[in-house]
Amino acid sequence: MTLANMDQPIFLPITKIVNETEQVKTFYFNFSLKSKPGQFVMLWVPGLDQKPFSIGYDSGAQFGLTIFNRGPLTKALFEMKIGDRVGITGPYGTAFSVKPNTHYIMVAGGYGAAPLGFLAEELSNCHPERGLAADEGSLAHDNNVTIDFCVGARDKDNLLFEERVKKLPNVTLHLATDDGSAGHKGYVTDLLSELADSYLRNQTMPKKLLFVTCGPELMEFKVLEFCNLRNLECEISIERFMKCGIGICGQCCVDPLGIRMCMEGPVVSKAVANQLTEFGKYHRDKSGAKIYY
Ligand SMILES: Cc1cc2nc3c(=O)[nH]c(=O)nc-3n(C[C@H](O)[C@H](O)[C@H](O)COP(=O)(O)OP(=O)(O)OC[C@H]3O[C@@H](n4cnc5c(N)ncnc54)[C@H](O)[C@@H]3O)c2cc1C
Repeated sequence: MTLANMDQPIFLPITKIVNETEQVKTFYFNFSLKSKPGQFVMLWVPGLDQKPFSIGYDSGAQFGLTIFNRGPLTKALFEMKIGDRVGITGPYGTAFSVKPNTHYIMVAGGYGAAPLGFLAEELSNCHPERGLAADEGSLAHDNNVTIDFCVGARDKDNLLFEERVKKLPNVTLHLATDDGSAGHKGYVTDLLSELADSYLRNQTMPKKLLFVTCGPELMEFKVLEFCNLRNLECEISIERFMKCGIGICGQCCVDPLGIRMCMEGPVVSKAVANQLTEFGKYHRDKSGAKIYY
């Protein structure tokens, strides 16, 4: 079954719930969404609200959303059980590039690790639910793709997808925690310089280098600054408050270009991110008021 009309919600039962951390759960749906890593769906709880969520898994037959328990809608979701239904529309928005002959440095924070985990699985052609073993049909191997996957969190109990990412071929996992309870003590962005240098020094098969990032905006902004300084390429997923998700309401337009993050984003190139004067400085709440970081 696929979405007949992407803008009409389809009510899907939750088929699996995985507790990732105390505040984060992944909700699975048996449905062929045909999404690309970086895209999102609108999830509707009738009588309450609808909100955008990045697609964290898509095996072709099943997709998953990794959700942080933050406010009214997510609280309602956290009370749901297997079999409860929610309205889904999408997939929407732009996606990260899936390129051969490329070394990816992925920089994830918080639930941003979910869409980047999906990207790493897509690049490795290794989705757990499809039952492909790491050494079978690996796009990573065939297409000369390698990945440094960097994930940061407050402490080791809040790190997401360590086990998921470790299993993938051609992926090297790097952890960073604020308190040093796992991996590097400090910000995940502290790792960038050493990883880029080490890759550029040691590369055996010539490849392009691409940074991709998804997570807290100030972390993403540091990735952009680093790529600007070193003249390296990057793609960034920029989250803005979205109401309709389909380019009509204008809630997620960004200064000064006025482009809609639900249509021309959420994933944008370095060239576009560099033109967004609000990126890393402020975003807007649901009434349009500026909230400075
Ligand atoms: C493209 C996109 C992808 C997203 N993907 C995910 C995802 O994979 N997992 C996930 O858990 N959430 C994701 N979000 C955020 C999600 O859409 C909701 O905003 C969030 O879950 C809070 O919803 P709520 O109704 O529970 O609480 P709200 O009442 O909306 O928010 C609770 C608190 O969080 C703050 N808040 C809400 N949204 C944001 C935001 N975008 N940035 C900063 N602060 C905010 C509010 O100001 C408020 O203080 C995504 C947002 C976008 C735009």
